[in-house]
Amino acid sequence: MEPFLSQNYANPSSIYRMAQAARSAVDAARDTIVGCLGARSDEMIFTSGGTESNNAAIKGTALARQMAGRHVVTSAIEHHAVLYPMQELQERFHFDVAIVPVSSSGVVDPTWLQQTLRPETVLISCMWANNEIGTVQPVEEIGKLARDLGVPFHVDAVQVAGALTIDLRHAPIDLMSISAHKFYGPKGIGALYVRRGTPWWPLLVGGRQERNRRAGTENVAGIVGMAEALRLACLDRETAQAHACALRDCLIAEVMRRIPNTHVNGDLERRLPNNANFTFDGVQGESLLVALDLAGIMASSGSACTSGSTEPSHVLTAIGLSDDEARGSLRLTVGRESTMEEMVRTVDVLVHLVERQRLTASKTQRATA
Ligand SMILES: *Cc1c(COP(=O)(O)O)cnc(C)c1O
Repeated sequence: MEPFLSQNYANPSSIYRMAQAARSAVDAARDTIVGCLGARSDEMIFTSGGTESNNAAIKGTALARQMAGRHVVTSAIEHHAVLYPMQELQERFHFDVAIVPVSSSGVVDPTWLQQTLRPETVLISCMWANNEIGTVQPVEEIGKLARDLGVPFHVDAVQVAGALTIDLRHAPIDLMSISAHKFYGPKGIGALYVRRGTPWWPLLVGGRQERNRRAGTENVAGIVGMAEALRLACLDRETAQAHACALRDCLIAEVMRRIPNTHVNGDLERRLPNNANFTFDGVQGESLLVALDLAGIMASSGSACTSGSTEPSHVLTAIGLSDDEARGSLRLTVGRESTMEEMVRTVDVLVHLVERQRLTASKTQRATA
């Protein structure tokens, strides 16, 4: 990335030779990315990240097809970058939004989704994997339903790109969002896959960049960084998966063995390799986070995007947790550089912190009784 921040500062749309070098770097990055995902280079549009990709896909397709109908379908556990554009379609453009519930293990049942489909459905959007509880959705089956009806299918694959295998040559997916910082790339850069022939209106208009599909001077350094990050992630995906699974499984097993009245949220089989999500009865997730941070352990309760809000996670309430249970939840994810020693220490710290919090809670209860 560094040369494109310091030495080659040219705008890739300019004529001079330095600009042509920047253009070549953007083209090469696009080729790398489509190569990793099984797409064609005219099907990948660079954006500012997952949020923009989701907004562009949902509003772009729904508004382009509104003459065919005003009904769209999504799941209850989508990221807010899907749910809020959907809400906007409903409130500002008079669409009907069907929100498909999920099972108690956080998986979308394609037959439930099928029941919501109507002749006037113009878009289905379902995430590939959930960012809070890590559940992996049956996007293949959902995509087949969509394809049978000729309805465009958008997939928020932000949690999956780099982590699991994606092959768009065979997946029945028409639009797909990815974001670089979820696979160790830079922040503020992402991409939207738009299959050839998918009806779509650009969210941003202005310059002629990205074949008139997303106006604005390209973030050259970001694009170059994203391509390299995805290339590296795909290169050692299998090793990374095995590493993450081993650590995560140990973390879950030890937490369940040593901390009573604990539950794992989300399906244990259909799950991202790096995700663990727990509910500790009688514990406040937020205070646990602060105490963990003091111990040098970075964790989160719901999604990083909504922390600071006192609302319980919509994902955890959608799988049937009460508001209190949702507030007593903790998400731990492991990374490339995480070690088994860190898992052991994390469990030790958690055992101590949960015990202390429960003790304090029961004392307060007794005092007020
Ligand atoms: C992080 C995330 C997003 C948002 O991506 P940004 O690049 O942060 O805008 C969208 N969907 C999912 C599933 C995510 O995990």
